[in-house]
Amino acid sequence: MTFAYSQPSSVADAARAAAGADAKLIAGGQSLLGAIKLGLASPEALIDLGALSDLKGITVADGKVSIGAMTTHATVAASKEVAAAIPALADLASRIGDRQVRNRGTIGGSIANNDPAACYPAACLGLGATIHTDRRSIAADDFFRGLYETALGEGEVITSVSFPIPDKAAWQKFKQPASRFSLVGVFVSKSAAGVRVAVTGAGAGVFRATDIEAALGSNWSQAAAAGVSVSADGLNTDLHGSAAYRAALISVLAGRAVLAA
Ligand SMILES: Cc1cc2nc3c(=O)[nH]c(=O)nc-3n(C[C@H](O)[C@H](O)[C@H](O)COP(=O)(O)OP(=O)(O)OC[C@H]3O[C@@H](n4cnc5c(N)ncnc54)[C@H](O)[C@@H]3O)c2cc1C
Repeated sequence: MTFAYSQPSSVADAARAAAGADAKLIAGGQSLLGAIKLGLASPEALIDLGALSDLKGITVADGKVSIGAMTTHATVAASKEVAAAIPALADLASRIGDRQVRNRGTIGGSIANNDPAACYPAACLGLGATIHTDRRSIAADDFFRGLYETALGEGEVITSVSFPIPDKAAWQKFKQPASRFSLVGVFVSKSAAGVRVAVTGAGAGVFRATDIEAALGSNWSQAAAAGVSVSADGLNTDLHGSAAYRAALISVLAGRAVLAA
């Protein structure tokens, strides 16, 4: 297939170029190039964000970790600042895919793609993050809209993600060994704002396990999380595991996350 390629030098130019119906932003290409090769996407124009150095980098200030959209998974995994502020976030980044994926893939691409088994959406929802774009700031609770769907509008560019620093947090990933994605992944956090439990890999998109949040809100313990019987209704069944198996994994992994936090 053929497509036009451009590498804008400002976010505004990238947003303008991406606003066309057949244009696609490209970051690390770790999801988009695969989709193009499989014939699942056939953009007429690729707008490469690679030259936008403003979109790279990590800052920790005012109780928040802010990560530029073009920051790679490897950079987050290796960041001493992230490891000190939210170790669970560095841990999550360090276990995404393999070395190549971590060195090319970006947090903005992962969140925009919203694969139903992706890791970062669970951290965003599990920490109550805010996604910043060239147009606005969107709470994670309003951002993820189900299978590969987000609140992003046409040509809207994610510029950064800010994560409030919790009192405690942990990530538990039950990996599907062939794909390296989560069969089920659970991100748990506790802060003055309350307990958040986010689940990826189990359903049509990332979601909060509100029954486990309620149980942990009154009793922060492994037993309280593991004791919640999660409904299998609406969860995925495939050759790797049934909906009932995934439902059982959610409370088991939430319990392990509480122990690890
Ligand atoms: C073998 C393999 C294993 C993997 N394992 C895991 C895993 O275990 N866990 C996991 O979470 N992920 C996994 N991934 C996916 C990986 O994390 C990707 O890096 C990520 O999904 C996409 O990031 P990217 O930068 O490559 O985005 P791209 O592929 O370049 O883009 C993905 C989508 O996001 C859009 N986009 C990119 N950047 C922006 C932006 N700033 N603003 C708005 N839209 C944007 C693009 O238009 C496109 O639609 C795996 C991938 C592979 C190939």
